Order: sequence, then C-alpha cells, then structure tokens
Amino acid sequence: MKRGIVLAALAAASVLAVSTQAQAQVSADWVRAHETFLAGEELRGRGSATPDEAIAAAYVAAQFRGFGLQTAPGMDGYLQKAEIVRLALKAPITLAVDGKPVAGATLLFGDGKSVEGTLMIAPAKALSRTAPADVLLVTGDQSAMQVYRTAAQMKSARVVLVRESAETRAMTERLGGSPRLPSYLRGEDPGARPSLVVLPAGAFDALAKQGGTKAALTVPITESTSVTTNAVGWLPGTDPKAGVLLLSAHLDHLGVLADGTVMHGANDDASGTTAVLELARTLAARGKSKRGILFVAYGAEEIGGFGSTWFGAHPPVPLDQIVANVEVEMIGAQDPKLPAGTMMMTGYERSTLGETLKAHGALVTADPYPEQNFFQRSDNYSLARKGVVAHTISGWAVVPTYHSKDDTVANIDIAFMTRAIQSLVEPLHALANSDAKPEWKPGGKPE
Ligand SMILES: [Zn+2]
Repeated sequence: MKRGIVLAALAAASVLAVSTQAQAQVSADWVRAHETFLAGEELRGRGSATPDEAIAAAYVAAQFRGFGLQTAPGMDGYLQKAEIVRLALKAPITLAVDGKPVAGATLLFGDGKSVEGTLMIAPAKALSRTAPADVLLVTGDQSAMQVYRTAAQMKSARVVLVRESAETRAMTERLGGSPRLPSYLRGEDPGARPSLVVLPAGAFDALAKQGGTKAALTVPITESTSVTTNAVGWLPGTDPKAGVLLLSAHLDHLGVLADGTVMHGANDDASGTTAVLELARTLAARGKSKRGILFVAYGAEEIGGFGSTWFGAHPPVPLDQIVANVEVEMIGAQDPKLPAGTMMMTGYERSTLGETLKAHGALVTADPYPEQNFFQRSDNYSLARKGVVAHTISGWAVVPTYHSKDDTVANIDIAFMTRAIQSLVEPLHALANSDAKPEWKPGGKPE
C-alpha cells in the first residue's frame, strides 16, 4: 500500500516537472505537492529511523533523480543508510549493598553499564569537590537533576544515588517507567555517563550510614537496532578545485506517539526538505556551476542528529571541500518578530555566509532568539563542529505548533515558503559560481 502511494505521488510530481522546468522558479504547486506527500497521513509523521522515514527518503531520492542530479562521488545510489543502536532494560535493575539487595531502586538515566565498587557518601553542596567514586550517595535537598548534571560534568561518580522526592516521582512518570539509555550509531563510542538511581526514603536514609561498604549496580541490557536513511543528490561542478556547497534539511519527524497520535511535522521539517527539493530542481535547471552542490535530506535528526552525524563521518566529498552548508529548518511560518517575508539564520554573526547570501537578495537576517541556542540545535551543528561554515535558515523557530499534532499542512504558509525559497535560488547560484569562500569570523567557529 505504501509503495502504491509513493508511485502515485511520483507520477503527480513528474507532471509538474514538465510544466515548470523551463522557468526554473520555485513554485507554490510544487511546495504544496511535496508538503502534502511528506506530511500527509500516509507517511505517519516520518518517525526517525522507521520504514516511514525510509519511504520519505526514497521519495526525495526519486525526485533528485528526476531533476537530473547524479549520485554523489563514491556512492552507488541516492541513499545513505546508518544503523542506530538503542539500549533498553530487559529486566529490572538490582542494587546490592554489602551483598544485600536494596528494594525499590529505580534507574532514571545512565549509560547502561553495570558497576561494582565502594559506596561513598557526599553532601550535594560538596559534589564539585568530591573525589571520583564508583557509587556515590548524595545527601542534602538539592534538585536531583542538578545533582545529576553536576556529577556528570565533574565525573564525580559512575552511579549517583538520590533520595525519592516529588521531583524524582515526576521524572519517573515522564519517562513512563523505562530509563533513558543511550542510542548511538553502530561503530561509534556511546561514551560514558553516570547512572542516576532513585531510592525510597527509608532505604536511602539507611544507606546514608553505610559509606565504605561494597555496592553493585546490575543493569540488564538489551540492544535493538534500527536503520536511518539519508537521501543524497549531487550536481557536479565544472571546477573540481572550487569546492562544494551543501544544502540540507532533515526528513524525519516524531512519527506516531504511543497513544496513536500522528505528528505530521509539516513545518518540522517537511518544509526544509521541500526547500532542498525546490532548490535542487531550480539549481539543476540552471545547469552546472563552478562549484558542485550536494543536496541532502537527513534521517533521524529528532532522536539525536544521527543522519547528519553519519554524513559528517562518511561525507561523499572531504569535509574541507565543503565551502558552506545551508540547513533549512522550519520555514513553514513567518516569524512575527521579523520583517515581513524574512527568515532568520542561526549564528548569523558567526560567519560571512549570511551577509553574502543577503547581499544577493536572500530574505535572511540575524536570529532574534540567541538565548535559545538554535545554532547548536539543528543538523548544521554536526558539521560546524567539524569546521564547516554551516548554518540553519528558519522561519518562525518558536512557532506555537512546534512539536505538536497541529504541525500540519493546513498550518503552513505556502506563499511565505515559496517566496522564501525563491529568495535563496539566486544567492546560492551566485555562491556556486563564486571564488569567494565564506569564512568564520573571529570567535565564530564553534569550539
Ligand atoms: Zn523537531
């Protein structure tokens, strides 16, 4: 059934291709067509690393092919797949102190590792000065979350024991009974972080007098895997030494919630994926530029930026050849804080990319929400951390439909999107034909 849907959408799309290819203008019909497919009922919210995400990636790949894009260097198709490993509990944890099990111990967060060592006791206010311990019981009335963050940052302990409180009960409820354990890309080091274990008040108070005894936390782990898919298209340049532009978005969203609610993600980020598709179509129609252009729709952004991280670790061209990355995220609504028709660029002041695009007519301006750290919160960051001048262009980043069931095509401003994407075509075309290389400004490059 799903396959039939994809084919029908592709057929509809190719009819549009014939009528608009000649003008190579961004078209509201195309924008609506892509949005309607990607954020429609059938794709069920494009859950990260699900078969629905894979269908979205196949759709994007088929469009790339239809626009005449090639497969990227070193790739034998338009899809790049990566395996995500998720850890989960297969049985309740056990905590034993001095050989005796402690009833009611609950794991909230951790790295999934079992730990054996000596139980140490420290007051919360001394946590930053405490020598590293295997198992550390933290006394005092500080917030458990704050204790955990400090312990993780200071590497104070491998296991942190805290006393049950209204805060920990709320946290347990939010987690729905299963602890938050790492997900990571197969082949990557998931890293170490402490386990946070909550104890009932009575057990906690008894253990607070048992410092120096042996303690063992056993975490029975099961591993499940899923596959995420990036769609990658390539418009070769005429000058291999001129470098490459990377235009990207993420194609996944939150999928179907446990209660059956479909999270459509029309804005987040079917809108960015649509932008990448329209930029691919219009730029491909202009023929080859000096610089090659990579068009990428990443999978699994919502669960930790896995698609872009994988791409950054396995790029089809060396990362130092990528002269700029423009990620497009949530351009489905206009920010009322910004002048009519304009988008914002995260980290605008960090590099010369934003002003270069703006000088050629891009409807972009600085991010009015620096306190939200949006620069660090999208797929551009995976590459920015590796030195690539990489920014995200967004519409209304704090839109009320953000991560809600109301993020649907009905709530998308197709006219704004169309104009916004159109405003990027000429500036990107100019950048693709330029010798000028966007640069980080002093202090702008992330550490
Ligand atoms: Zn999102």
